[in-house]
Amino acid sequence: MTDEPPAKRQRTSSPDPATPTRSDKFWLPYGDIVLVVNLTMFRVNRDVLRLQSSVFSDMFSVPQPNEGQSTIEDCPVVHLSGDDVGDWNLVLDALYHPWRQKLRLEVDMICAMLRLGRKYDMIEVTSNALARVRNDFPGDFEQWADIPDGGDMVDSQPETAALLQLLETAHEFGLWRSYPTIAYGILLWMPISKLAETFPHPKQNISPDRKLVLAVAAKAITEHQKEQLAWLLTDETIPSDACTSPETCASLRTTILRRMLWGPESEEPQVKMTMLWHWAGSMLGTWTEKLCKECNEAGRPVFQQHRDDAWAKLPTFFGLSPWEELKDALELETEDSA
Ligand SMILES: [Zn+2]
Repeated sequence: MTDEPPAKRQRTSSPDPATPTRSDKFWLPYGDIVLVVNLTMFRVNRDVLRLQSSVFSDMFSVPQPNEGQSTIEDCPVVHLSGDDVGDWNLVLDALYHPWRQKLRLEVDMICAMLRLGRKYDMIEVTSNALARVRNDFPGDFEQWADIPDGGDMVDSQPETAALLQLLETAHEFGLWRSYPTIAYGILLWMPISKLAETFPHPKQNISPDRKLVLAVAAKAITEHQKEQLAWLLTDETIPSDACTSPETCASLRTTILRRMLWGPESEEPQVKMTMLWHWAGSMLGTWTEKLCKECNEAGRPVFQQHRDDAWAKLPTFFGLSPWEELKDALELETEDSA
């Protein structure tokens, strides 16, 4: 039990302020390499790392332990600098317990997979995380619309704090085609004033630049929504010429307008991001379906045209180019296998 502290240099006279401790989860008895990340040591298997990562594959092509390399229980010790222990716990979990992963990867896991996947050239790890992000945050209107009530995001409310982390990661990796829907997702759930708060996890506290982008976008979207909803202020479209119950339909039109401006009446009124709501989605459907058939048919295409326009403009609210010019910076050769 008197393991030598790893890679201790004789010339440093002051003792280490803290000695790395063994991971509870990943100190595997048949492991043959010790990874040191900050103050945590993982005893894992070279073969697993080598198969996933060209960086480790190259590293292990040199006989281990190499000259001057310290060992613990005969396992060579490798210090990984700049990594996060939490990231390694997650990625090792994915590598050693692949079937335990939920179908829908958690944001923490996705971000860890992207960070370590890219740094250590783990192609499968990176491409799986990328596929997940692109599926959940598509840069494609059809795909977005395919997500049940996509624009409303009622049933898929991920934690906003997690989305903040994902936004920062999307920025870091240049996932520009997912960035707009991630950012919009944050605005859907978080009053801008909350951005100033400090979240418990440091990764969820995004950079001032990102906060500025969100704040500017929130204002621009609010302005845009006023224009988008202007048609609901007039009786140009509803009640339609063939309307069978003009009074009811006019009143419903006002209800729809109010709801899109201020949100559900049960909630404290506040400006809502509603420009991508569906005509018959869960937020408006109960009202639009009460319109007479003629008004419903007259209103829908006008509503959807505005919604399409809003979608087309979405990236520009966040200071990005329009969709057709947006490309992800991170592309992988193995993508077609995903
Ligand atoms: Zn009507």
